[in-house]
Amino acid sequence: MSSVAELLHRAAAAERALAQASAPLVAAGRAPVELQLTTRPIALKATGLSSCDTALTRDPWAIDRDPGYGPGASTGDPVPGDAPRQGPLPERYTEASEAQLDEWITAAKAELGNRVSILGHFYQRDEIVKYADFVGDSFMLAQAAKQHPEAEAFVFCGVHFMAETADILSSPDQAVILPNLAAGCSMADMATIDQVEQCWDELMSVLGDGTDAAGTDAVGTDGEGKQPVIPVTYMNSSAAIKAFCGRNGGIVCTSSNAETVLEWAFARGQRVVFFPDQHLGRNTAKAMGISESEMPLWRPHLALGGNTAEELRDAKVILWNGFCSVHKRFTVDQIERARADYPGVRVIVHPECPAPVVEAADGAGSTEYIRKQVEAAAPGEVLAIGTEINLVNRLQQQRPDLTIFCLDPVVCPCSTMYRIHPAYLAWTLESLIAGEQPNRITVDGAVAEHSRVALERMLAAKP
Ligand code: SF4
Repeated sequence: MSSVAELLHRAAAAERALAQASAPLVAAGRAPVELQLTTRPIALKATGLSSCDTALTRDPWAIDRDPGYGPGASTGDPVPGDAPRQGPLPERYTEASEAQLDEWITAAKAELGNRVSILGHFYQRDEIVKYADFVGDSFMLAQAAKQHPEAEAFVFCGVHFMAETADILSSPDQAVILPNLAAGCSMADMATIDQVEQCWDELMSVLGDGTDAAGTDAVGTDGEGKQPVIPVTYMNSSAAIKAFCGRNGGIVCTSSNAETVLEWAFARGQRVVFFPDQHLGRNTAKAMGISESEMPLWRPHLALGGNTAEELRDAKVILWNGFCSVHKRFTVDQIERARADYPGVRVIVHPECPAPVVEAADGAGSTEYIRKQVEAAAPGEVLAIGTEINLVNRLQQQRPDLTIFCLDPVVCPCSTMYRIHPAYLAWTLESLIAGEQPNRITVDGAVAEHSRVALERMLAAKP
């Protein structure tokens, strides 16, 4: 059993043990005992308040039968009606043992050789990552696809928007396959292209589109000729939104280069509208000296996003109301507890965490930044990390001389990525051997072309 699967089962057992232990004490009017487990990263100090769902211990077919993103990190986020759905797998796969699946995947991989590359995201579960030819963040994996012209197909063990980016950057005759179509991303789904177009129209009505009625003068531009607003989208967004940015003078960013990209945007525009992660947008803009009062939140179901025209005119960064369900779980309280339990601990978090968490931490940065911090840590250091549990556990395995733990004491993986079970991988690989391309993700010509424009602007942007 993999480490996170073990953690989840231990968490469920701990929940049951705690429920039994605390019930008579509560009845007697005393506080419930706090369960102490020996390993900090997986210590389930259950409070009953956690939203992370022990239903993650259920079998994957039970999880897939329920609508939604799956139990756990993304509980409560509505899945858009047009999100891809995964059909049931043949019984051969759903009834196979772990050992059988392992045998099938290993044999299929050997047979396919370098015709097929398996790409695994950093947040992917261990029992998938062990088969990956490349492991990285979404952009690294998309580039891995570009750099391997010999591969006929990439099996992308990440989520939907990542597979789209890989398809955009790979050549048209290379197939990108997402083993489980239900592996979406709740953050990316928080901004649909219709909502973004509507937002843009409303912004243009308030800020001007940079041209007069004849389409020549700079109505809405400032003295320097800057456009009223530049659209910027985080990599974690649909291809349609990347294409929207490409068409409208905008750009894509990652969590590693968000500041460079905002500087690029401010060289060309008076304001930025930032999709879909409000936290990455806010944390980056704050680090650049922009005040919270200049960052109105755009709520897509309200007129003008719930703002006045004046607030939008005074804005520097208009933040879309999206977030990552995994990273929003981290709190300042968790940091204080880590500091109390481990004096001298260094706290590092991802910039998708809320601003107060980033400000209370000792450092914040992308997955790559976190990995480098761990790599460079002095032996014996204690690090509390605010990011996805699979990555944190893997970092601990790579540096056993350090004490590394996840800030959130409740085990909670990215529940959408978790949808890629080895049975889906076995099914995908055996289908490829049979000459089929199941779950191929394709981005159509115009969307791909405009997305590429926005991605190329990002690659060309220099700090
Ligand atoms: S960790 Fe968050 S942003 Fe990343 S894929 Fe999962 S839900 Fe989406």
